[in-house]
Amino acid sequence: MLCQLTVKELSEKLQSGEVSSRDAVQACLDRVQSVDPQVHAFLSVNAEDALNQADAADIALKTARENQTKISPLTGIPIGMKDLIAVEGHPLGCASKILEGFISPYDATVTRKLKEAGAIPFGRLNMDEFAMGSSTENSAYGRTNNPWGLDLVPGGSSGGSAAAVAAHEVFATLGSDTGGSIRQPASFCGCVGLKPTYGRVSRYGLVAFASSLDQIGPYTHTVEDSAILLEAISGHDPLDSTSVPEPVPAFQQELKNGVRGLKVGLPKEYFIDGMDPEVRDAVEKAVKELESQGAEIVEISLPHTDYAVSTYYIIATAEASANLARFEGIRYGKRVDGDDLFQLNSRTRGQGFGEEVKRRVLLGTYVLSSGYYDAYYNQAQKVRALIFQDFQQAFEKVDLIATPSTPTAAFKAGDKVDDPLSMYLCDIFTISCNLAGICGISLPCGYTSDPQLPIGLQLLGRPFGESQLLQAAYAYEKATDWNSKKATAIPAP
Ligand code: GLN
Repeated sequence: MLCQLTVKELSEKLQSGEVSSRDAVQACLDRVQSVDPQVHAFLSVNAEDALNQADAADIALKTARENQTKISPLTGIPIGMKDLIAVEGHPLGCASKILEGFISPYDATVTRKLKEAGAIPFGRLNMDEFAMGSSTENSAYGRTNNPWGLDLVPGGSSGGSAAAVAAHEVFATLGSDTGGSIRQPASFCGCVGLKPTYGRVSRYGLVAFASSLDQIGPYTHTVEDSAILLEAISGHDPLDSTSVPEPVPAFQQELKNGVRGLKVGLPKEYFIDGMDPEVRDAVEKAVKELESQGAEIVEISLPHTDYAVSTYYIIATAEASANLARFEGIRYGKRVDGDDLFQLNSRTRGQGFGEEVKRRVLLGTYVLSSGYYDAYYNQAQKVRALIFQDFQQAFEKVDLIATPSTPTAAFKAGDKVDDPLSMYLCDIFTISCNLAGICGISLPCGYTSDPQLPIGLQLLGRPFGESQLLQAAYAYEKATDWNSKKATAIPAP
């Protein structure tokens, strides 16, 4: 069945003419229809529009074949989009009631780049409202279920993006990662999720949660697919002042360089009590595999790790409270009228935002308020600098850092919704990477025994070191077959 293919395999078949883009899109539509009632990864699907784009791609593919000209490897491939990335003419809702009915008037830069590469934006993927959460239970439209166990969460906030790939509803998707939202769901759903270096991928057209932390990145079945997508979406963008004018390496070509001679650091602060022993075991075995391929393993220390979660929840909420001020009932989406402007604003926000979003806006406003700014926000910025320094010092000794992506495998829906603190602690291994602005990837490295649930290996790399990150991930993936396993709670594709 077509839906089983990787992006690379599908691309080859499209280019040779063995399958058409229309077939590929139709296969996704059929798969969504058969499994999404159980998984609920999609908020909506643009069936007719995607099929039309597929027909146009099929013409381009045919012309390239006839004239023997080169054509982008993404031509004709549908890519799922998290509901906070702008696609012109598509809903842009951030899984929030406050943006109900809002249609994006323009394309995000990543969307434009994907379209220019011939890819087809496919559907709107469920998420925690405004990307705030670790389980997708904060969506205003109901939670997404993990394809490995429908009573389990897929992780968050990009739960829909991860679950759609794991359920083979689409070949690849885009998500966003502010504190782990790509890597934690990738780990819970058994796919490959990459958070690029801050500044590598344009944020233009990504609805901002915490602007100094947000990055867009791909979800795929394989590391090679991740490289293909990263290459397509990366690059300097004058429309995003934080995007960096760094050249974009040929990630796919550089994949096969191996790990011989690479130094991989194991931070002692990441192998903690309270971590599932099966997770620790799987990650330690993965590190041994890298060692057997010629990497040198070095113990390192990231001494300020303990402060990462609290630092993040001050900085991220502060930025969110400012970013979300724009949803006031006048400019976007929902409006609840009132007798005056204040009433209109507060009613719209009161009814439009969910509980977690309100909690963050309150927290963020508090830490920015004049009496507390120095004690909280300023202090958090200083700690952030120390966390960055930890990584800087570590990367003087090692090329990459290996850790678990999460302390446990996927947890049951409902288990943490009433306990925000325990939900926040889910991101203990992923948050520092965003605070430091470095790059990270999560890929499958084993399964728990009962029930069988995916475990994620996280690799962290230097700023703009995605090539090395992908090389190590690729070398590991080639030596294992974790990604050939299919999610068990839904029919095989
Ligand atoms: N779970 C974290 C939070 O709730 C991270 C979310 C994200 O990366 N978007 O803030």
